[in-house]
Amino acid sequence: MEYITSRGFELPTDQTEMENFDWFNMWSNRNFPYYELLVGDTLYWFDTTAQKLVWKTEVVKVDRFPYSDKQQIFDRYPNSLGLKYYDSRPDSGYFVGYKVKVLEKLDIEKPNGFRFPQLGWLRVDNEIATTWFNRQPTEDTNTLDDNVSDDNKNITELLADLNEKMKNVSPERVEKLVSATIRKDTKIINALKKATDFKCQFPNCGQRITKKNGGFYIEVAHIKPVSQNGQSILGNLIVLCPNHHKEFDFGDLKIDEQTNSKLAGQLNGNKFEIELTYHD
Ligand SMILES: [Zn+2]
Repeated sequence: MEYITSRGFELPTDQTEMENFDWFNMWSNRNFPYYELLVGDTLYWFDTTAQKLVWKTEVVKVDRFPYSDKQQIFDRYPNSLGLKYYDSRPDSGYFVGYKVKVLEKLDIEKPNGFRFPQLGWLRVDNEIATTWFNRQPTEDTNTLDDNVSDDNKNITELLADLNEKMKNVSPERVEKLVSATIRKDTKIINALKKATDFKCQFPNCGQRITKKNGGFYIEVAHIKPVSQNGQSILGNLIVLCPNHHKEFDFGDLKIDEQTNSKLAGQLNGNKFEIELTYHD
């Protein structure tokens, strides 16, 4: 994805300074793009004092967490002290920090009549791509699982990594990607199948289908459907045989309890409880 972010102070004119700085936002709410910003995204920097875009950068690190005390931020980001922005931030809320790599120095003036939103973040949509950059927007080819390597990892570590990654993906973004390209959750789905040994997780089932060329066939269902903004994360994914999958989809399903590690409810009148924790 591509974003424009604005700052109410003069941005560095030096590339090293730009890259060394701990950039951040602190909000009382999980404002856009708290969840959306990802490593690999393109970030354009708007300097409000110059009323120009001055840098094109790539996000190389993202760190996000809720904070209850500004001191936590002081401790982790000593380089960011003393800024007026920092002092004006809420005492508790949501922190998103990021490092960038400079791709290009820019000198692009804000198009006439364009008003920057209050919170200083814009997604580069078709209109912006056309009016600011004078170009046709390109397809979003950023994949959600690119930053997780499955080399030398056991299945528990891999699942944990993938889960962290998918947590940072807003349902809105997943939905957009699903319609725009293909599903990007293949890795977590495959890891989950392996972790369950390709067996249906429904109590007392454990079915899997043996394929003639080796391997097994099994399905993975979203407990809260993607169409209702359900995420591809642990706690919302369940490995099911085709029968139980369809029974989940079409049967009378009542969920009594859903956490990251447990799912309990009733399916067509039968009570069930499924542990959603995984080990090697
Ligand atoms: Zn089953």
